[in-house]
Amino acid sequence: LPKVAIVGRPNVGKSALFNRIAGRNVSIVHDEPGVTRDRVYTRAFWEDKEFMVVDTGGVVSVPSSESQGSDALAITRGGGPVAVAQALKDAAAAGLPALIERQAASAVEEALAIIFVVDGQAGVNASDLDIAEWLRKKHSNKFITLAVNKCESPVKGLLQAADFWCLGFTPIPVSAISGTGTGDLLDDVCAHLTSLEMRDDLDNKEKERLAIAIIGKPNVGKSSILNALVGEERTIVSPVSGTTRDAIDTEFTGPNGKLFQLIDTAGIRRRAAVAAAGSKTESLSVNRALQAIRRSDVVALVIDAMDCVTEQDYKLAEIIEKEGKACIIVVNKWDTIPDKNSKTTVYYEDDVREKLRVLYWAPIVYTSATNNQRIYRILEVATNAGEERCKRISTAILNQVVQEAVSLRQPPTTRGGKKGRIYYCTQAAIRPPTFVFFVNDAKLFPEDYRKYVHKHLRQNVGFPGTPIRLLWRSKT
Ligand code: GDP
Repeated sequence: LPKVAIVGRPNVGKSALFNRIAGRNVSIVHDEPGVTRDRVYTRAFWEDKEFMVVDTGGVVSVPSSESQGSDALAITRGGGPVAVAQALKDAAAAGLPALIERQAASAVEEALAIIFVVDGQAGVNASDLDIAEWLRKKHSNKFITLAVNKCESPVKGLLQAADFWCLGFTPIPVSAISGTGTGDLLDDVCAHLTSLEMRDDLDNKEKERLAIAIIGKPNVGKSSILNALVGEERTIVSPVSGTTRDAIDTEFTGPNGKLFQLIDTAGIRRRAAVAAAGSKTESLSVNRALQAIRRSDVVALVIDAMDCVTEQDYKLAEIIEKEGKACIIVVNKWDTIPDKNSKTTVYYEDDVREKLRVLYWAPIVYTSATNNQRIYRILEVATNAGEERCKRISTAILNQVVQEAVSLRQPPTTRGGKKGRIYYCTQAAIRPPTFVFFVNDAKLFPEDYRKYVHKHLRQNVGFPGTPIRLLWRSKT
């Protein structure tokens, strides 16, 4: 997720703005690797955009002259006067403006956009000028917006904000406490995030390859499928460290010119089988499968046509859904089914669906690896599933579909006469597509109603081949 850092001298209201942006349902993520407890990250949503906000409030030391009513986070840090003096020294040593510590500086470093906060009531301050100059010089490649905080009155706010043009950024009057202007601020930030990300996306597009994990019980034909796909041109890519023993990756270009990476959990067994002849008894390693699934975009779950779905396949299916991966079901050894007619696949599909309900959205491909039947169809269908997993739908269409769902079936009314209301819905993420429902009270939406909305969404916006997620958030 793109990161947005909030910076400014102490006491301008960074933490208040952070809380305003994060909303009520804050899940504070302290434990990202490499992140110390001094920095507070949280996931935030605005319209159809999801990002991480970083509050640097906790990492800016509070000089004694400004310590009254200082940022809550600075207090929790417990920096007394000695610590403050040290922090100022550190900042100077690192060539940073006074009041910006190394920690804050690295948060800014990581961010795609920066919200620079100043105090509209106090006016321009020498530290503001310092920070502005530092941002202009060192971070000109980022999107920087200037939030003039404590402007409760919109009219007066414009005047207060006008003072800050001298910092070299366009000032936006806001009030973190009342919320005035914060919508405009976020519109501005998100518009820029989107265009910065689109630039990144274009850069990545060319490098993009689809990672397909070939998963299934031993002996269902995983290796045979791999060989049929890749044939003699097989090149073994160096295994990713940490997974060395668990899977072999093969990279190749498909008939459509697209680059594929096949993650093959069978390859190892095949090698081992050379050493220990007749090792067909090897059992399924769920752990090995899990590692491969985690690294993939799409999972090809291979089953043996004669055995159909077994208990172990069901276990794998649950993992695939839980990990949010796209999936296709490959019914291999289709040649072994006798007396096929036009109805065979229909009956067969019913059976698979019945036994693998958790993957009800996954397309099915019937193959014969030994006869080379429909093998390339795997790549086609997997490509589609991979694309669906990255698909975004517009907020307008989404809300239309949701409104329709509600008009067809209203949320239940509690005994106390309370009723759930959906304010709006937005797609917050892809891989897998994730939708956030902003509602009056998430508790008023029981499981069966959520399932109903889920189903309605699926029926109307599709997403074949990928799981989708619905999140329900109370908005007060
Ligand atoms: P893996 O353990 O899943 O990698 O399975 P293998 O690829 O080693 O295949 C196990 C056995 O099934 C081998 O004897 C294959 O020749 C056979 N096999 C694989 N695919 C097919 C198929 O589509 N039809 C038939 N009839 N046999 C197959």
